[in-house]
Amino acid sequence: MKKSNWAVLVLLLMAAFTLGACGSKDSAGPPAKDPADGSKDKLHAVVTFSILHDIVNEVGGDRVSVHSMVPIGTAPHEYEPLPEDVKKTADADVIFYNGLNLEGGKEGWFFRLLDTTGADGSKVFELMEGVEPLYLSDNKGQEGEINPHAFLDPTVGIQMVENARDAFVKADPAHKDEYEGNAEKLLDQLRGIDQEYKDKIADIPEENRILVTSERAYQYLANSYGLEEGYIWAIDTEENGSPAQIKSLVNLIREREVPALFVESNVDRRPMETVSKETGVPIVHELYSDELGKPGSEGGTYLDFLRYNIENIHDGLSK
Ligand SMILES: [Zn+2]
Repeated sequence: MKKSNWAVLVLLLMAAFTLGACGSKDSAGPPAKDPADGSKDKLHAVVTFSILHDIVNEVGGDRVSVHSMVPIGTAPHEYEPLPEDVKKTADADVIFYNGLNLEGGKEGWFFRLLDTTGADGSKVFELMEGVEPLYLSDNKGQEGEINPHAFLDPTVGIQMVENARDAFVKADPAHKDEYEGNAEKLLDQLRGIDQEYKDKIADIPEENRILVTSERAYQYLANSYGLEEGYIWAIDTEENGSPAQIKSLVNLIREREVPALFVESNVDRRPMETVSKETGVPIVHELYSDELGKPGSEGGTYLDFLRYNIENIHDGLSK
């Protein structure tokens, strides 16, 4: 974001605080009961993007209302928060982010937003806490080289749900049992999905266990379940689909006799179409990467997003 945009954001925020202060006389003390929908009793959660939205919503259940910032259709790595995002973050009881550099790391948009809103650190939770980072290059130790896409790996999904549960229990200990119950239901399903990943990948002939996509988003998944990776570019924020990147993937595909190519639902298909044309290997399926599908679509929830990916990976590579 440009400096000048941040100045505007700070001004908007100050305006929001001033307006809030004028109308907040009766908001001191415990929140008033709202007989219409009880929403004033709810915890107000803010999350950075769609995958966290679904997880936090499921674990929080009836106790929380969740505001998600990056809309479906926009990559979460770089984002310009809207005035509404700033206001909701300033007012939030709990704030969740992915971490592992997804939101651009300590210098990225999310931490700048926290700075702007002066958010209390004890309300802020990283859902990737405890997940071992994998790196996009050998340049380890550099935050910018951490691959953020760990949520594509169901074993990491389990950890994210546990982190969300622990965060809610900490923020609202009075309703511990509810959060634990909600989390357990989700964990149960995720354990089943983990098994499904193991079974389906075991069913793919060994020489076909190579997943070729546009972005290197599937590194954690590949690492956990024993797939090789092929990709055009390492992360969406860099140059996407240069001739050198395409050439290098074309060489790998020929060398490894890759049977099928995949393309993510949120990227420009053209670079992969070029790869397909040059190698004669078909693009067999779309996969989800940085975001859920639209509500009600095949990948509209985190669980369906994970199921959709393994069904399509299996289908594309087992032929
Ligand atoms: Zn990405």
